[in-house]
Amino acid sequence: MKRNLLGLDATGLAGFFAELGEKPFRARQVLRWVHQRREGEFARMSDLAKSLRDKLTEKACVEAPAIVGDTAASDGTRKWLLKVDGANAVEAVFIPEVRRATLCISSQAGCVLDCAFCSTGKQGFNRNLTTAEIVGQLWLASRLVETRISNVVMMGMGEPMLNLDNVIPALRLMLDDNAYGLSRRRVTVSTSGVVPEMDRLRDECPVALAVSLHAPNDRLRDRLVPVNRRYPLRELIAACNRYLEKAPRDFITFEYVMLDGVNDSDTNARELAEIASQVRCKYNLIPFNPFPHSGFERSSDERIRRFASILQNAGITVTTRKTRGDDIAAACGQLAGDVADRTRRSERRVVAIKEVHA
Ligand code: SAH
Ligand code: SF4
Repeated sequence: MKRNLLGLDATGLAGFFAELGEKPFRARQVLRWVHQRREGEFARMSDLAKSLRDKLTEKACVEAPAIVGDTAASDGTRKWLLKVDGANAVEAVFIPEVRRATLCISSQAGCVLDCAFCSTGKQGFNRNLTTAEIVGQLWLASRLVETRISNVVMMGMGEPMLNLDNVIPALRLMLDDNAYGLSRRRVTVSTSGVVPEMDRLRDECPVALAVSLHAPNDRLRDRLVPVNRRYPLRELIAACNRYLEKAPRDFITFEYVMLDGVNDSDTNARELAEIASQVRCKYNLIPFNPFPHSGFERSSDERIRRFASILQNAGITVTTRKTRGDDIAAACGQLAGDVADRTRRSERRVVAIKEVHA
């Protein structure tokens, strides 16, 4: 089996070169070839000795997921469907804006956490992506778009905190000056609140943190974000405060999906203001993006404005996420990819839907 160098961070690559009997600076050279110049062929790495190029061709490879779909939305958003094995495909989304260009990447094929309003969760779970598959999304996108990708958000498919063994080396590559050289503030991990893993990320590789709050009290959050039954709001907020001690930004971004008649009342907004008094945070309201059989609807623009103004009047910074790429189902929570569900959740759901309609 050839080693896929795309999945090795600086330390991993140095280890591999030591195994080959090569000097550490050679590892750095190859790191730059692979990630800065996005070169996948060892034969073209012109400043390496021919003998090393041959050795690498024999023992290693640079292999990213295969692109099986490439869709462009009218607003410039671009979505790739990437095949990671015979049974699974995941999605990555490129979002160009005036002053930055963001790539949204996936961390797992599916997700076990089953949030009520999320189409990834509805598909069930198959497996963790490898480091090469995670960083491979950035590698591929950087080759395909003209603009330099300035920000990466782990807000695609999957729960990054449940795959930190592979996510952390991928983050290290994003930050490494010999690879993508992004600042910690421009790399964001989004989590639904897996508390112990938040502590691990803080200790091993603190980057900007977004937390999917979506409900201002445990009763509602238990229902919308089931991981809350395990790590309720009190514990989540304490973990956010611990994270802030080492975070590159001095606030946590709380994501809040606006679900019509479910979590969007004035009372809910006031409850959120109370949470903001316990942790330095900003709110990012996300208009719900519908998908078939979700059972939810998006709050009206008027309701979202009113909700935001209650928070603003309490002195809290609020942004409302512009829905991008929804004509190609590339908006938050619409990423479905193609997952061979080991949990058979999607099958159970089809049965449940059939029963409802019977
Ligand atoms: N698992 C991580 C990251 C992926 S989801 C997490 O949950 O944070 C990225 C964001 O999209 C999360 O805030 C998620 O709750 C939100 N989201 C999921 N489904 C959505 C939908 N249908 N409409 C709008 N946002 C959604
Ligand atoms: Fe998983 Fe995040 Fe979707 Fe919840 S919102 S099911 S944690 S991907």
